[in-house]
Amino acid sequence: MELISIIVPCYNEEESVPIFYETMSEVSSRMNEKYGVVFEYIFVDDGSSDKTLQIVKALAEDDDRIKYISFSRNFGKEAALLAGLEHASGELTAVMDADLQDPPELLEEMYAAIKEEGYDCAAARRTSRKGEPPVRSFFAKLFYKLINKISNAEITDGARDYRLMKRCVVDAILLLKEYNRFSKGIFGWVGFKTKWIEYKHTDRAAGQTKWSFWKLLLYSIDGIVAFSTVPLSIAAFVGILFCFVAFVMILVIIIKTVIWGDPVAGYPSTVCILFLVSGVQMFTIGILGQYISKSYMETKHRPHYIIRETNNNTVKGQQ
Ligand code: UDP
Ligand code: MG
Repeated sequence: MELISIIVPCYNEEESVPIFYETMSEVSSRMNEKYGVVFEYIFVDDGSSDKTLQIVKALAEDDDRIKYISFSRNFGKEAALLAGLEHASGELTAVMDADLQDPPELLEEMYAAIKEEGYDCAAARRTSRKGEPPVRSFFAKLFYKLINKISNAEITDGARDYRLMKRCVVDAILLLKEYNRFSKGIFGWVGFKTKWIEYKHTDRAAGQTKWSFWKLLLYSIDGIVAFSTVPLSIAAFVGILFCFVAFVMILVIIIKTVIWGDPVAGYPSTVCILFLVSGVQMFTIGILGQYISKSYMETKHRPHYIIRETNNNTVKGQQ
């Protein structure tokens, strides 16, 4: 029988996990009857401070399809996803949020896409950003436009991390060992035939989103730095442009001085120019700093996560 692993990253999801499990149970028994597939669940507790782990453990006692991995602290969703993928043993693997914003019913459609239409991967893409603050939507759209222009990994607007993948796709993703992980980019980068399934965005089943605007902004910078080196060229380009402008200005000033002399004036404009040029310098140094700090973290080869507790006997050790 074919095994589907369902990876569920959980961070303070005590309210959502039971609802998730219930909904998934319905879907899994339906799919079991229809296609003869079986499921395993990998709940990755990302250092929750509430009762998430206890709830998952209680579920695991009654259902031996449930595996859990609990981190020693909050390592972030990317680390949780990676841990799940590393410990998934199914022929097919799905990644799904605990809050039911990724409708489990879509799994059937995803499964059919892979089995009947020959895709390697089926992913969910939300069509509306309804219910989201307008400022956040605006910046999200801007981010997707920008990153697709300046990177070679295709990152689809509205793409969720929610997807069902064949073993070959999971293995390819695991080949990318980078420390700064940006899954949306990694999924696009590995390629493979992907079917996009569109659905309407729904509100969380329970609990609160873990992403503040600030966290999302930092995450988007991570995404750009991880998948594009174009900002480095922008820095160089702006530098060259400013040198050129300065050169022309020097020429103009010399010619002006030779012809009309040099009445002392223009203090305010000098200060403005000083501010502008030093601002551009700081900005470009900042871009450099982003890349250097990322390579610094990569060279440390720190583990992506540390496991505190698990019921998964096939654990390959801490990654
Ligand atoms: N999550 C996690 N670690 C974190 C933040 C979030 O494992 O540090 C999980 C969270 O429990 C949920 C999923 O990632 O299952 C998506 O988080 P959330 O719903 O807050 O994000 P949104 O849907 O608002 O993008
Ligand atoms: Mg959510």
